[in-house]
Amino acid sequence: MNEMITNAAVLREAKKPLSFEELTIDAPRAGEVRIQLKSCGVCHTDYSLAKGILDHQPIPSVLGHEGSGIVIDVGPGVSNVNKGDHVVMAPIAPCGQCGRCMNQEGAYCEREEKRGWGILPDGRTPLTDKDGNGVAIGFNTGFYSDYAVVPSTAVAKIPKDVPFEIASLLGCAVVSGYGAIVNTAQVQVSQSTLVLGLGGVGLSAVMAAKLRGAYPIIGVDTNKERLELGKEVGCDQVMTAEEFNNIKITDFNGGFDVIIEASGAVPVIEKCMSLLRRHGICVYVGAAESTYELKVPHLELVATGKRLCGCLTGEVRPALDLSNLAKLYSAGRLPLDIFISKRRPLDELELAFDDLEKGIGLRTLITWPK
Ligand SMILES: [Zn+2]
Ligand SMILES: [Zn+2]
Repeated sequence: MNEMITNAAVLREAKKPLSFEELTIDAPRAGEVRIQLKSCGVCHTDYSLAKGILDHQPIPSVLGHEGSGIVIDVGPGVSNVNKGDHVVMAPIAPCGQCGRCMNQEGAYCEREEKRGWGILPDGRTPLTDKDGNGVAIGFNTGFYSDYAVVPSTAVAKIPKDVPFEIASLLGCAVVSGYGAIVNTAQVQVSQSTLVLGLGGVGLSAVMAAKLRGAYPIIGVDTNKERLELGKEVGCDQVMTAEEFNNIKITDFNGGFDVIIEASGAVPVIEKCMSLLRRHGICVYVGAAESTYELKVPHLELVATGKRLCGCLTGEVRPALDLSNLAKLYSAGRLPLDIFISKRRPLDELELAFDDLEKGIGLRTLITWPK
């Protein structure tokens, strides 16, 4: 195993065009794997970093965190995947050994918490530019690149009949919605579930709620096409944001068991809390920048046991959740094809950001030739 050359889209300055460069990428070290990318989603957070709306990742860096591909090299000590495996990657790499990992809280792994951004768990970046300077791996992934090096615990093997394009969606958008339902809210049969915002995350939450037997499932969005998609993938009822603003807890049989806030409209959380039944749970996955100060009814929280909960990337357990999602897709239980609106090669990443800005479809994917 040697260093390789990888073509990558490098963010050298926010709000400026990306720089397409040949970088050197390390061979994988202990516990790491090297992946040949086949597909990578273009997510809102990548867009926001490129445009300077978010700035929490180091620069220069290679963005892209919804990736799938083929394992081409495995470092010493890796046993969960082999060379040639088709895989999907999560932006979280639980160590598997700390207290939180032991306690099924791997998404909040202590090693990951200390890691910071742009580097592998051992503190280095695997990418070097032609002047010999390190280039960070944005989101600890760096998938807008022909090749990537990641910890093996971030990687899940998928069946070979699952297309790379579908697989790449699983690691961020799909698992963020699915995990909010399955891992965080732990939705039970016949629990009433309200999903706000029917983008990739919200629609994935609807699909997962249906798999868990939630009833009724109600979807809310401002966009008519998305409301139709909501019905297509499992909503028993949909409503516009305006209709949602007018509903009261008494309209819904004592309140909702579960509410997933995936629209990013922060003030709406207050309305969500008012619509929960006693001990109901509102999971906030919207992740929007906002200066709005949330008013939480603290006394009511105690009296009713209502829960307001954050949820990082669906609290993903990569090996379990991502391979389960791939299996369910392969069995025809997850209609994920609706998400893919466009495919572009890596050198059209700027155009893919334009697609996102114009709201064209749900997901543009960067794809590599077969
Ligand atoms: Zn994402
Ligand atoms: Zn850990």
